[in-house]
This record gives sequence, C-alpha cells and structure tokens, in this order.
Amino acid sequence: MRDKIVAGNWKMNNDLAETEDLLSKIKLEWEGTEGVRVIVAPSFTNLHHAFESLRDTQVEVAAQNMNQHENGAYTGEVSAKMLTSIGIKTVILGHSERRAIFKETDEVLAEKVNTALKNDMEVIFCCGEELKERKNNDHFEVVKGQLENGLFHISEEALEKVVVAYEPVWAIGTGETASPEQAQEMHAFIRKSIEEKYGKDKAAEVAILYGGSVKPSNAKEIFAKEDVDGGLVGGASLKAEDFLAIARAF
Ligand code: PGA
Repeated sequence: MRDKIVAGNWKMNNDLAETEDLLSKIKLEWEGTEGVRVIVAPSFTNLHHAFESLRDTQVEVAAQNMNQHENGAYTGEVSAKMLTSIGIKTVILGHSERRAIFKETDEVLAEKVNTALKNDMEVIFCCGEELKERKNNDHFEVVKGQLENGLFHISEEALEKVVVAYEPVWAIGTGETASPEQAQEMHAFIRKSIEEKYGKDKAAEVAILYGGSVKPSNAKEIFAKEDVDGGLVGGASLKAEDFLAIARAF
C-alpha cells in the first residue's frame, strides 16, 4: 500500500510568529489518520523551530529546497547536512518556481537528488508542464524528460525514498485546477514511465502527489483517482482549517 500524503508548501510566507500560530493550530487539530502523512514545509529560517514544535506529533516537516553541494563556498545556500542535523529528513526538489525563477536545470536537480539520497533524505520530486506545452500537446514529453533527466538515474533501491509531485505550472497559484481526469491521466503516465524503468512492483510503490490549486472543495475528487496519492498544497496550506480539510479528504 502506498502512503497517502498531504504536504503544505508554505513558499516564502510566514515569519516566526505566523509560523508558530499556524503550527499550533495544525497540531491541535490534526488527530492523525492511519496511512496518511501530513507534512509542512516552512522557510529555512523556521525549520528548526517547526521541527521542535512538531516533535511527538503526527505532523512531519520538510525543506522546500537545498543545495547540491555538501558544503563550501556557496554563500546563502543550505546543505543537506544542515537540514538533517536539525531533524529534517524530507526535501522538496525541482518545484516549478525553482526551475523557472531560479533557473534550476534538470542537471542541477539530478545532483540535488543524489545529494539528498546520499544523506538519507526523502525527496519530493516535482515535475509539470507549462501552459504553452500543454496547448501544444507536449505535456507528456515534457514531464517524461524531467523525470528521465532529473530522477531516473537513481537506483531501484533509492526509488524507495522518492515521492513524485505532478504540478502543472498553469494550475499553480492560479485558482485553475487540473480536472481529476487530467490529473489521473498524467499520474498514470508517470507511473507507467516509472514502470518502464524500474518495473511494475516498484512503480506501484511510488506515491504520486498532485499540486496546483488544491483546495478543500476539490481535494476529494482529485484524491479519489486511482493514481493520485495526495497533494502538494501551496496557497491553501497557509490556513490550518483548509489544509487539514484537504488532509481529511481521502
Ligand atoms: P498552489 O501551489 O496550491 O498555491 O497552487 C502549489 C505548489 O506550488 O506547490
């Protein structure tokens, strides 16, 4: 059985006080559901605090990014070891904002994936096409390329530490969601691509999350699809009530 996962990507939102406030609401109201993992990804500055605050609760903490190098002269960057040393064992890599705004290439992401895995971290690997690519009917090819160039070099064993998040760029922060059918179609394609590379059994074990304007009103329908194992949630993860309503939508 695959894990069901709801992960909140807080992006560059919430200072310390706001982080404390949101965390206290989430931990008070999330009673935990068997087989469902709830993860929050605050900014780097609030990760240590979040981890300590959520210790002994059913809520996990992830980082939104990290550098591919182990250490050294990389001003302003954060390493895997810095993250693991404060208890963070999961990192989101390849978010479309990292790809588009910070110019992270598939090659850099492949290195980041390696570094995370080498440090025994779990990776939430994001992929997804832009609107023009979908309009040109290139979306399958684009997503396959992102997987092949950024992820599929890893071993079969390492795949156990990977969650894939499909996030069509045109649905991120736009209020426009992929239909449950569009999500299922792409998730099935992603699982098939994993199967071609790693075999059916391995592919069946990989959780594939949908991201892009997930909200309480659409989560149930999307999560009901066979190959959708949960969501990577941006905007709606900033309100405890909405985020937990999504976590209860399985
Ligand atoms: P959104 O963001 O839910 O605000 O569309 C999702 C994401 O970027 O991970």
